[in-house]
Amino acid sequence: MNSLAGKCSIYVCLAFLLIGCALPIERVHVVHVPAVDVYFVPPGHRMLEGGRVGLAWSNGTEFRIYIYGEQWADGVDAEDAILGHELLHVLNWLDGRIRNPDIQ
Ligand SMILES: [Zn+2]
Repeated sequence: MNSLAGKCSIYVCLAFLLIGCALPIERVHVVHVPAVDVYFVPPGHRMLEGGRVGLAWSNGTEFRIYIYGEQWADGVDAEDAILGHELLHVLNWLDGRIRNPDIQ
Protein backbone atom coordinates (compact mmCIF):
# COMPACT_ATOMS: atom_id res chain seq x y z
CA MET A 1 0.00 0.00 0.00
CA ASN A 2 1.38 3.36 -0.93
CA SER A 3 1.34 6.10 1.67
CA LEU A 4 -1.42 8.13 -0.04
CA ALA A 5 -3.79 5.15 -0.04
CA GLY A 6 -2.90 4.45 3.58
CA LYS A 7 -3.63 8.04 4.59
CA CYS A 8 -6.93 7.99 2.69
CA SER A 9 -8.10 4.81 4.40
CA ILE A 10 -7.21 6.28 7.79
CA TYR A 11 -9.25 9.39 6.98
CA VAL A 12 -12.19 7.23 5.85
CA CYS A 13 -12.03 5.26 9.12
CA LEU A 14 -11.88 8.49 11.12
CA ALA A 15 -14.87 9.85 9.21
CA PHE A 16 -16.90 6.74 10.08
CA LEU A 17 -15.87 7.06 13.73
CA LEU A 18 -16.74 10.75 13.88
CA ILE A 19 -19.99 10.81 11.93
CA GLY A 20 -21.08 7.21 12.39
CA CYS A 21 -22.56 5.10 9.68
CA ALA A 22 -25.90 3.48 9.14
CA LEU A 23 -25.96 -0.29 9.14
CA PRO A 24 -28.86 -2.61 8.47
CA ILE A 25 -30.66 -3.65 11.64
CA GLU A 26 -29.83 -7.19 12.77
CA ARG A 27 -33.23 -8.07 14.18
CA VAL A 28 -36.81 -6.99 13.66
CA HIS A 29 -37.80 -4.11 15.93
CA VAL A 30 -41.50 -3.82 16.63
CA VAL A 31 -42.96 -0.72 18.23
CA HIS A 32 -46.57 -0.89 19.34
CA VAL A 33 -48.17 2.44 18.58
CA PRO A 34 -51.29 3.32 20.51
CA ALA A 35 -53.79 5.69 18.95
CA VAL A 36 -52.19 8.78 17.46
CA ASP A 37 -54.47 11.66 16.61
CA VAL A 38 -53.22 13.52 13.56
CA TYR A 39 -54.44 17.10 13.27
CA PHE A 40 -54.23 18.56 9.77
CA VAL A 41 -54.24 22.28 10.45
CA PRO A 42 -54.36 25.43 8.32
CA PRO A 43 -51.53 27.98 8.11
CA GLY A 44 -51.34 30.16 11.20
CA HIS A 45 -52.74 27.52 13.55
CA ARG A 46 -51.52 28.14 17.11
CA MET A 47 -49.77 24.74 17.28
CA LEU A 48 -47.63 25.59 14.26
CA GLU A 49 -46.45 29.05 15.18
CA GLY A 50 -43.01 30.34 14.28
CA GLY A 51 -42.88 28.76 10.85
CA ARG A 52 -43.31 25.19 12.07
CA VAL A 53 -44.84 22.78 9.57
CA GLY A 54 -45.26 19.87 11.97
CA LEU A 55 -45.25 19.10 15.66
CA ALA A 56 -45.48 15.92 17.72
CA TRP A 57 -47.03 16.19 21.18
CA SER A 58 -47.61 13.80 24.06
CA ASN A 59 -48.56 13.94 27.70
CA GLY A 60 -47.35 10.38 28.18
CA THR A 61 -50.68 8.71 27.43
CA GLU A 62 -52.04 10.66 24.49
CA PHE A 63 -50.11 11.17 21.26
CA ARG A 64 -50.83 13.86 18.73
CA ILE A 65 -49.26 15.06 15.52
CA TYR A 66 -50.06 18.51 14.19
CA ILE A 67 -49.20 19.01 10.56
CA TYR A 68 -49.87 21.67 7.99
CA GLY A 69 -52.56 20.38 5.66
CA GLU A 70 -53.62 21.40 2.20
CA GLN A 71 -57.22 21.12 1.08
CA TRP A 72 -57.74 19.53 -2.33
CA ALA A 73 -60.95 18.72 -4.12
CA ASP A 74 -60.60 15.06 -3.17
CA GLY A 75 -59.32 15.46 0.40
CA VAL A 76 -56.63 16.79 2.67
CA ASP A 77 -52.95 16.26 1.89
CA ALA A 78 -49.70 16.78 3.78
CA GLU A 79 -45.98 16.32 3.20
CA ASP A 80 -44.97 12.68 3.67
CA ALA A 81 -41.53 13.60 5.02
CA ILE A 82 -42.96 15.91 7.68
CA LEU A 83 -45.52 13.34 8.78
CA GLY A 84 -42.78 10.70 8.91
CA HIS A 85 -40.52 12.98 10.94
CA GLU A 86 -43.24 13.65 13.52
CA LEU A 87 -44.15 9.95 13.65
CA LEU A 88 -40.50 9.17 14.39
CA HIS A 89 -40.78 11.44 17.44
CA VAL A 90 -43.75 9.40 18.67
CA LEU A 91 -41.90 6.13 18.01
CA ASN A 92 -38.82 7.47 19.84
CA TRP A 93 -40.93 8.40 22.87
CA LEU A 94 -42.48 4.91 22.90
CA ASP A 95 -39.23 3.02 22.31
CA GLY A 96 -35.79 4.51 22.83
CA ARG A 97 -34.31 2.13 20.24
CA ILE A 98 -35.83 4.40 17.61
CA ARG A 99 -33.61 7.44 17.13
CA ASN A 100 -34.79 10.95 17.80
CA PRO A 101 -35.09 12.42 14.29
CA ASP A 102 -33.79 15.78 15.52
CA ILE A 103 -30.44 14.27 16.53
CA GLN A 104 -28.10 13.46 13.68
ZN1 LIG B 1 -38.29 17.00 15.11
